[in-house]
Amino acid sequence: MLLHNTLTRVTQEFSPIDPGAVTLYTCGPTVYNYYHIGNLRNAVFNDTLRRALQGAGYNVLHVMNITDVGHLVSDADDGEDKLEKGAKREGKTVWEVAEYYTDCFKHDMAAMNVIPPNGYKSSAYHDTYARATEFIPDQIKMVKRLLENGFAYITKQAIYFDISKSPDYGKLSGQTLSSKETAVRSEVVTDGEKRSPHDFAVWFFAVGTFSGHTMQWETPWGKGFPGWHLECSAIIHATLGDPIDIHTGGIDHIGTHHPNEIAQTQGAYSHELARFWMHNEFMLVDGTKMAKSKGNSYTLRDITDRGFHPLAYRLLILQAHYRSEINFTWESLSAAQNTLLNLYAWADLKHQQNLAEVRLSDTDIPEFLDRVKTALSDDLATTAALSEIFRYSTSLAPGMTLPADDFDILLSELDLLLGLKLNGRPNITGEQQAIIADRETARIAKDWAKADKLRTKLAKHQLEVSDTPNGPRWRRTSL
Ligand code: AMP
Ligand code: ZN
Repeated sequence: MLLHNTLTRVTQEFSPIDPGAVTLYTCGPTVYNYYHIGNLRNAVFNDTLRRALQGAGYNVLHVMNITDVGHLVSDADDGEDKLEKGAKREGKTVWEVAEYYTDCFKHDMAAMNVIPPNGYKSSAYHDTYARATEFIPDQIKMVKRLLENGFAYITKQAIYFDISKSPDYGKLSGQTLSSKETAVRSEVVTDGEKRSPHDFAVWFFAVGTFSGHTMQWETPWGKGFPGWHLECSAIIHATLGDPIDIHTGGIDHIGTHHPNEIAQTQGAYSHELARFWMHNEFMLVDGTKMAKSKGNSYTLRDITDRGFHPLAYRLLILQAHYRSEINFTWESLSAAQNTLLNLYAWADLKHQQNLAEVRLSDTDIPEFLDRVKTALSDDLATTAALSEIFRYSTSLAPGMTLPADDFDILLSELDLLLGLKLNGRPNITGEQQAIIADRETARIAKDWAKADKLRTKLAKHQLEVSDTPNGPRWRRTSL
């Protein structure tokens, strides 16, 4: 399998450290607001990677965190904690805010058919996401190691990672510290004792602006809460063990968050954090970055409110390579929805077995599936994988019947790889089947008026019938 590694900047052959399981970690949501469609692109990218690895025969252990503490409004060390800000906005406690948006996030993941992580099981929440607040002892242990190893120092306000101790800090981003310096905004340096603006907090003390911080934990150095970057390193160490095989995120994490994770693990445990780093490009809206202020920061709810299916959005994402920008427009979503309808019309032939025209043979199916898997093994070439499916699903040969079980297996295999839910779609109802049969009888009797009336009736059921030499075919006109 070939994967593009941000760390080496080349697309290289992937093989896991332990052939028994690929260890995969993904930075998860900060649960203070709804996920937007850009975040959902990241979720679909992770899911596609996981499915492609599984399709290539690997067992995958996947851990994803949920940031329910410590993420300040800026990714640097200034601003309010996002959770505290959300709590004020909504008149709720931080715990309620975290719980609410975690549920929303999980709902979105299910709607987008994203496989939940499986590499960790939370006993407190009975789910498989690793919440930062469940790993406080691990984070404190990490701070202790960083202090003992001389990679961190204490001020009155916080404990900072000392970047000068990490000479290869820029190896992921390719940025030198001096070039990063110019990008650091002056107001970030709010702590006079901070040695360099690049140093980042691994622990904040509940003093000054944070004295009223709701989430606080005891440490040997004072009460407080963890810095945002710390949790990922600590969770990886505690669950999958470092180094892991693959770490993923969106491209915005290449500059700060991921280098900080790498530096922390190196400083605390003298380990590389991950061998492969993979990053998805951005989802733009109308050619620009999404922003609440511009009113173009859509959620999945906005998509479904306009009558689109979540999996139409999934298909829109898959139609581009994960390392290319996508420009979201309602027109492109509408086109993706039509394409999904066409794919579903093909899959629905399953229910029209005795009349099926799908050209499949014993050798056809494995060869076709191999072509789809080969595309995905080429750095997740989803565009090429979908082209294979479109070509196959439209190359019908009239009169050839299809072994029902084979078609069923084929659709399930495609679902495992792309998550578009082609299989398991319900048949039309008995009432709808009876209308189709009545219409066919009327047509044979040349009672065109009745046949037309029944066609109109079917349209109300969102069904369209076409007459073929082998009998009537139905397809759904909406998702
Ligand atoms: P956040 O909650 O901001 O950390 O974002 C969750 C994930 O979504 C991260 O991996 C981000 O890199 C990614 N992400 C954020 N905005 C976008 C976007 N517009 N397009 C694609 N991915 C994004
Ligand atoms: Zn992270």
